[in-house]
Parts: sequence; structure tokens; C-alpha cells
Amino acid sequence: MLHNTRFHQTPRSPLARAHKALAAALAASITLVVVALTGAPANALASPQTTSQGTVSYLMGDINNFWATNFRSWGWSAYYAQPTVYYYNSTITACGFTMSPSNSFACDRPYLGQIYIGTGWTQGLLNTYGDYAPGVILAHEWGHEIMFMAGWKSASGTLGRELFADCLAGMYTRYGLTVTHRLDNSDYWEGYNTLASIAGGDHGTPKQRTDWYAYGYSSYNINSCYRALT
Ligand SMILES: [Zn+2]
Repeated sequence: MLHNTRFHQTPRSPLARAHKALAAALAASITLVVVALTGAPANALASPQTTSQGTVSYLMGDINNFWATNFRSWGWSAYYAQPTVYYYNSTITACGFTMSPSNSFACDRPYLGQIYIGTGWTQGLLNTYGDYAPGVILAHEWGHEIMFMAGWKSASGTLGRELFADCLAGMYTRYGLTVTHRLDNSDYWEGYNTLASIAGGDHGTPKQRTDWYAYGYSSYNINSCYRALT
């Protein structure tokens, strides 16, 4: 996804002032589940999807449950609300800006809670990298919403925000793969290859993207991911 940096500017929030202490508290509250990627790779989600919207529909509730549960465990439920996912396939105005259809993005305040998925663009990714491709894009955009809702800012600029979102996508991938089993072992790599393919510019190199995705998966810890913002 190509993100206009203006979408990522987060207004000052009371939460932002306490973000370091909160991040530490959050880290302590997440249970680490050790898991190995084993077994023969399959070729699809646990319920195989052939369309971008099919993948998004299949996974959005699972991604929401993951983050809603985390926010609840942190005592932060008041700051979490399920984002609304919109599909588009032509140039649109959203988040207050004109957006290309070859994109996906998440809105900050005053449009908080809106995620836009470019259907043609993510369909192309699905056709190339597998049916989790639109899912890892959705998980990445959801990661941006997590940052916006929490009021976390990036001291490391746009790149830090993008790598943070990749890290959170890795965290969800582990949840989907090991807790709810909506994903299977091939999906980890489908997500990995998808992110690597969209690298460049604000998003960093393929290695940076996949390193942070893998780090989110292995650490399963938002405090670890928060390091991308510092
Ligand atoms: Zn992004």
C-alpha cells in the first residue's frame, strides 16, 4: 500500500503522553505462546478464498476479536472500536484526500476507524501471492488504526509507522494461525511475500518489512512492535 503521509498524522492525545509506560504495561499483559511453523504447506486459508472481498470478510471479525481482546486485557476497551472496512476500485475521496484505486489505507482522526481496501489491487496480490495477501494488507491497515486509537506517535517518522503496522500484522498472523486457525502454515509465507513485494519508499526495504512482520509474529508482543515507533 502506498500511504500518503498526511493520513498518519495523529493529533495529540492524552494517551500519547503516557505511551511508554503503557507500552510496558501492555507487554506484560500479553501471553507468549511458543509455536513452530511445521507441517506441509497448504495453499489456502483454512477456508480457501478466491476473491479479495472474500478474504477480508473471512478475516475481519477474527482480526477485530484479536485486538478487542488485547485492549480489554490492557484495560483500554474505551479506546477501541471496530473499524469499518470499505471497498473501492476507482479513485475516491476518503480520509479527506483523493486516493488511487491501487492502494489500501487507514484513516486517522477526524476519520478514525475507517479502512479502505482497494479491491482490484488486492485481488492482484491474491492472484500472485495467495489468498492471505488481502488479509495481511487488512491486518496492516488495522495496525495503523491501533496506533491511531491509542494515540501513539512515531518518533521515527513514516517508516516507523509502516514497520509498526507490519509488526502488528505479524502479531495477528500468529493469532489466526495458532489460536483461531483461520490461517494455515502457508499463510505466514503468503503474508511475508506480499509485504516484501510492496516495499520501497515510505514502507522500507523488503527486508525491513519482512523482518518486522516476522518480529511481530515471533514476539507476539505489542511492546516489541512499539520499538518501531521509537
Ligand atoms: Zn501502512
